[in-house]
Amino acid sequence: METIANKWRQVKQRIREAEQAAGRDKGDVLLLAVSKTKPTSDIVALYRLGQRHFAESYVQEAVLKQSALAAFDISWHFIGPIQSNKTKVIARHFSWVHSVDRLKIARRLSDQRPDTLPPLNICLQVNISGEASKSGISLGDLPELIDAVRSLPRLRLRGVMAIPEPEQDFQKQRQPFAQLHQAVNALSGTPLDTFSMGMSADLEAAIAEGATIVRVGTGLFGPRQYP
Ligand SMILES: *Cc1c(COP(=O)(O)O)cnc(C)c1O
Repeated sequence: METIANKWRQVKQRIREAEQAAGRDKGDVLLLAVSKTKPTSDIVALYRLGQRHFAESYVQEAVLKQSALAAFDISWHFIGPIQSNKTKVIARHFSWVHSVDRLKIARRLSDQRPDTLPPLNICLQVNISGEASKSGISLGDLPELIDAVRSLPRLRLRGVMAIPEPEQDFQKQRQPFAQLHQAVNALSGTPLDTFSMGMSADLEAAIAEGATIVRVGTGLFGPRQYP
């Protein structure tokens, strides 16, 4: 059976090759390890290899892991859907939130971010596939939300996050990432520095189109079993 260490090396290698193919600098793209549903022992295994950024999607599960791993120097990212009654815990327990798609949620995160912590890094989740059922705001509504979030004192707006529809074909995978990158770069104002796009199956396409963070779960830990 393939060890976690081997999987991690393979994903790092895929990222490096994609950076090269896109003419980007080595280390330009941050690997975010998506550890949702996986045990803390898997997180520790990757930590020992040098992995420091981990992402979770479920608040309760994340907080349990964080307290078990309090002695480790980990940056925790929240990437799941956010209900209003969870913002207080998220504001206290994470360094990054990638899944903000409403001003109400952003305001609560800013209000509830403790003064003892640095501002919370924020990505706005954009729905580039245009499906009503999916979370994320439309590209059309993005400029207004960017302006509003920028004015919130305890947040630091970093960029955008997207989860396009699954596609097999590389060129088809690239399209929504390219569309998002172009739309964001066309906005006026201070440029955003973060494109959180690309997962296990499409990280090469995302890196080709300017991803700065790829969020990888299955590629590192194997398939998830939901309880
Ligand atoms: C679960 C999840 C991932 C990881 O997906 P894989 O296909 O397992 O790499 C990435 N991003 C988000 C928002 C997720 O919820």
